[in-house]
Amino acid sequence: MTPEIVLLAGDAPGTQRQLICLRFGVAGARPKVYLQAGLHADEMPGVLALQHLLPLLDAAEAEGKIPGEVLVVPAANPIGLSQWAFQRPLGRMEAESLHNFNRGYPDLATRAGDLVDGLLGDDPAANAGLIRAALVQAVAEVRAQARTDMVEGQLTLLAWSIDADHVLDLHCDHQAVMHLYASPARPADTSLLCRCTGARVALIQDVSGGNAFDEAHTVPWLQLRQRFGDQVPAGCFSSTLEYRGQFDVSDALAAGDAAGLMAFLVGVGAVIGDATPLHPDAPHLPLGGAGEVFAPQGGVVTWDSAPGETVTQGQVLGHVTDPMTRVRQPIRATNTGLLFRLELWRSCLRGQSLAHVAGETVLRNGDLLSD
Ligand SMILES: [Zn+2]
Repeated sequence: MTPEIVLLAGDAPGTQRQLICLRFGVAGARPKVYLQAGLHADEMPGVLALQHLLPLLDAAEAEGKIPGEVLVVPAANPIGLSQWAFQRPLGRMEAESLHNFNRGYPDLATRAGDLVDGLLGDDPAANAGLIRAALVQAVAEVRAQARTDMVEGQLTLLAWSIDADHVLDLHCDHQAVMHLYASPARPADTSLLCRCTGARVALIQDVSGGNAFDEAHTVPWLQLRQRFGDQVPAGCFSSTLEYRGQFDVSDALAAGDAAGLMAFLVGVGAVIGDATPLHPDAPHLPLGGAGEVFAPQGGVVTWDSAPGETVTQGQVLGHVTDPMTRVRQPIRATNTGLLFRLELWRSCLRGQSLAHVAGETVLRNGDLLSD
């Protein structure tokens, strides 16, 4: 394993943060798989899962069983890790700008397309190589323009990951069952990841809006395909994985999750081993079919349902009680499907999003991600 440390320039006098990437296997070998956790720095389940994965990779490497290349960024957001206020970690957004650390990644397709214009031929593998090199150059150019630690950090991660075959971004939700997000480009990889991780649902969308980290890797290939046609393969599989809820942090869970990630690495050929998927495939449902449930009033939130339950449209999932008027209003499912997540907080404001139900019917279009 070779560690690579990048020092961020530092926004305030006397401060400097760093990112570390741990490289396993053969530099430049394929497939290249990139894993990171903690981009939202208050989400520890994925961070702990990678801590359990690293010794497995150490052992595989010692036995010469990593023919591909595996990059692991164990903590992707040192800025967020240091942000505590009101005695709580605030890892989702940068405190200075309120910018979500997992939004606003750059559009790379235009620049990369200009770089490969006229160079693509009939060999998809050769075209993929040209496009990857162009994407690396495009990231380097925009990274050279970074003016804050937050942007420099985002682009440092992207510089490590942009030419990978597989990119896994480990997050968690508030209260949730295991689920993941992916593009429709490589459904076999989505199925493999579901079978390895035990995801209960895969939420599928080609462009979700917001330019999240996962789509920074898949949207360029989609847009280049729109520009150049079939010469452009689906060159990267990328997924945001939600490792259950904020408090689902234990060594037992993380050890199981690390074993699942090893099964994925074996399944894509980056690692040689006997780790196998232990779960059935999950339904692949449209992200736009994830129905959102809103608070009917402000007050105390109580739940009658739990993540993982199948619910029907109109079903009472819980209640919000206004302690002053003593009015108790039901929280009703707006669609039929899998209740896969609930908000963490036990108090709410009127109109806040409280839960999501994954269904088959598309309900929403446009910008599909939460803030
Ligand atoms: Zn997250």
